[in-house]
Amino acid sequence: MDVFVADYAGFCSGVARAVKKAEIAPKPVASLGPLIHNPQVVEKLAAQGVRPVASLEEVEEGRILIRSHGVPPQVLEQARAKGLEIIDATCPFVRRAQELAQELASQGLEIIIVGDPEHAEVRGLVEWAQGKAKVISSAAEVENLPQSSRRAVIVQTTQPQETLQAVVAALLPKTAELWVYNTICEATRRRQEAAVRLARQVDIMVVVGGRNSANTRHLAELCRNTGTPTYHVEKAGELRSEWFAGAQKVGVTGGASTPAWIIEEVVKMLQHLSESIKEPKTPEVGVERAEALLSKPNGEARDT
Ligand code: SF4
Repeated sequence: MDVFVADYAGFCSGVARAVKKAEIAPKPVASLGPLIHNPQVVEKLAAQGVRPVASLEEVEEGRILIRSHGVPPQVLEQARAKGLEIIDATCPFVRRAQELAQELASQGLEIIIVGDPEHAEVRGLVEWAQGKAKVISSAAEVENLPQSSRRAVIVQTTQPQETLQAVVAALLPKTAELWVYNTICEATRRRQEAAVRLARQVDIMVVVGGRNSANTRHLAELCRNTGTPTYHVEKAGELRSEWFAGAQKVGVTGGASTPAWIIEEVVKMLQHLSESIKEPKTPEVGVERAEALLSKPNGEARDT
């Protein structure tokens, strides 16, 4: 069984930047929500003094770390009002979407955000759009929208291109003037394309990353949609040898919040499983090996 790792698997620049900021920040530091959607990394950072908190209410003094998903502008104002030192790790791609949301709202446009309404990035974007945006997660939801003279679309940075295309296609007949700002980040697009390319060439696909990571779940969905059986795991220990019975080629990719060390552990485990599920050796091979060993001088045989 051969194991292939997709290009662009693992940490994107925004997540790597946030983790770096957390590592070099003076400790203790509170992070507003888990820094990234990967429980293993969050646990490691907690051991270094990065404490996740659910809200600013839990932080009376010191410093607060803003994660790559960003926060609503009101949260930044509250943190400043409390005198907290702000370490802002909002990803520059998310920041761009926030600025667009703010700008479009100030122009009085009806704003559609394509994304998951429960995701922190999207909740933040809604506030940057002065609370005026409508969140749409699929083309089917466009059916409920009325006709409009003018709309603007922005997208959660980690959404699949296909979702944006489907929503835009559904909006066009309902909107006289439609402005589309594709704020899906390059890292996401490249990772998704590479994962799909690999999924089409292998028998089984393994997608590594937190179950709470939206972009990892999207990756798994895209790989599954190619028709290749796909497993989403958080860590190497979750792999099961029976998933790979008869497989010749296995592909691996990881979400934007999956560190390289977890992907490496998964690859090593796959190589180990590959050994254990090999066909039983033929007696001839066994005899050959034993003969080769016996023909060596005693000392050499003992040392090997
Ligand atoms: Fe930034 Fe893209 Fe990474 Fe999100 S996935 S943190 S937008 S680089």
